[in-house]
Amino acid sequence: MQLQSFGAALTVTGSMHLLTSGGRQVLIDCGLFQGNDDLEARNREPLPFDAAGLDGVILTHAHLDHVGRLPLLVKLGYRGPVHCTEPTAALAETVLLDSARLQVDGYRHDLRRARRQGIPDEQVPPPLYDEEDVHRTLALLRPALRFGETTRVAGLRVTPHRAGHILGSAYLLIESGDARVIMSGDLGNRESGLQLDFTPPPPADAVVLESTYANRTHRPWAATLAEFRDALRGAVRQGGKILIPSFAIERTQTILHTIKNLMDAGEVPRIPVFLDSPMAARATHEYFEYGDELIPAVRDTLQAGEDPFRPGTLHVVPTSAESQRINRYDGPAIILAGNGMMTGGRIQHHLKHHLWKPSTSLISVSYQSPSSLGGRIVTGADHVRVMGEEIAVRAHVYTIGGFSAHADQDDLLAFLATAGTPHVWLVHGEPDVMESFLPVLAERGLKGDLVPDRQPVDLTGPGYPDGRPAGFTAPPPRSGSHGGE
Ligand SMILES: [Zn+2]
Repeated sequence: MQLQSFGAALTVTGSMHLLTSGGRQVLIDCGLFQGNDDLEARNREPLPFDAAGLDGVILTHAHLDHVGRLPLLVKLGYRGPVHCTEPTAALAETVLLDSARLQVDGYRHDLRRARRQGIPDEQVPPPLYDEEDVHRTLALLRPALRFGETTRVAGLRVTPHRAGHILGSAYLLIESGDARVIMSGDLGNRESGLQLDFTPPPPADAVVLESTYANRTHRPWAATLAEFRDALRGAVRQGGKILIPSFAIERTQTILHTIKNLMDAGEVPRIPVFLDSPMAARATHEYFEYGDELIPAVRDTLQAGEDPFRPGTLHVVPTSAESQRINRYDGPAIILAGNGMMTGGRIQHHLKHHLWKPSTSLISVSYQSPSSLGGRIVTGADHVRVMGEEIAVRAHVYTIGGFSAHADQDDLLAFLATAGTPHVWLVHGEPDVMESFLPVLAERGLKGDLVPDRQPVDLTGPGYPDGRPAGFTAPPPRSGSHGGE
């Protein structure tokens, strides 16, 4: 089985992996590059394969960096099936429609600015795709993948298993003849406050493994909760707005559930909570449909007919006009808005209005790519550019890493421990993080390699001359799993 990666190779974004086996070609994920201008420019590069000639597409989950270039594939002539789980299809609709809207809004904005500068319209890059392209794409979704059930896709046997990352997320066991390969997609944090753990993987010859946090260990869940509670209490004392930039799927629901628990337990004051993200509000509805993927505490609340994601003081902000009005609200209030890396979305105007005030608190609960706006703020920039304006960073900035939806080093090793895999191919990580993981793999008798950008590799070629590694013990979850079944 051959792999060629056109995204998430030597970087954490733009996942797109082409598997070739027996002359058939299947694409695993088709994600958008996000984070900074250089990365985003890659979305405009021509795809280096014949989109119309693909034999199938499989999605691991609905995050934009895994599905966001699908409409481009369809624009280039792909008309075949896009296989995924049911929740992934539901969330992909929300995610792709939002992405199209952002593309078109961005284009209109650029066009107005270009005209004021006397630049001809045709020099403004058009949107990558629009709502119509998304509807054509959604018509190709085949949401029939079920955890633990094998499906045939273009001659390959494909078995999705629960990845525990976001609702519907799957890792894939792909079999062709005798070869067995696992494509990890994104794997969950075994201490998620929302999702059940990933199911232990079956044995495989090779694992293509995400490595976002392969160099670190997240804080235990209890410590993360205490850290978040203390940040909120400190922020309330500052008296200003409390900005929580958050991704719409998984992180927002985790944070809402945590705030609700803290307020119900009397651990933080009942100040107003504004959910300023229509996309997050829509995504939250899907959690009511697929409660069986959630940890018992959340599932039980849902089954009792209660809303686990609604603190008593929650206001959902539907329109951007109402979003602007929050800025005139006096007194402390929590504002949850997208996106998590602060590179776009409604969080930007809140940053512009509040980042320069010492009374403001910014609580980062998301992964921050070093080159993104969020990355610059959390690493201590004095001034940043927000919506075309220089803004001083005077807000109190808290960074809380333990809410991560991604596996940390222990989680990745626990995953590999049961796969009994001779060869681990690393994707979806920063190169220095992946390099530092190689000796950790070697200590456990595993051969690791970084998947090169765009260059084909033979996944099931010779791994270890001595056959399978002896195996090793999985590191236990940090504070005892609360996510098992
Ligand atoms: Zn993801």
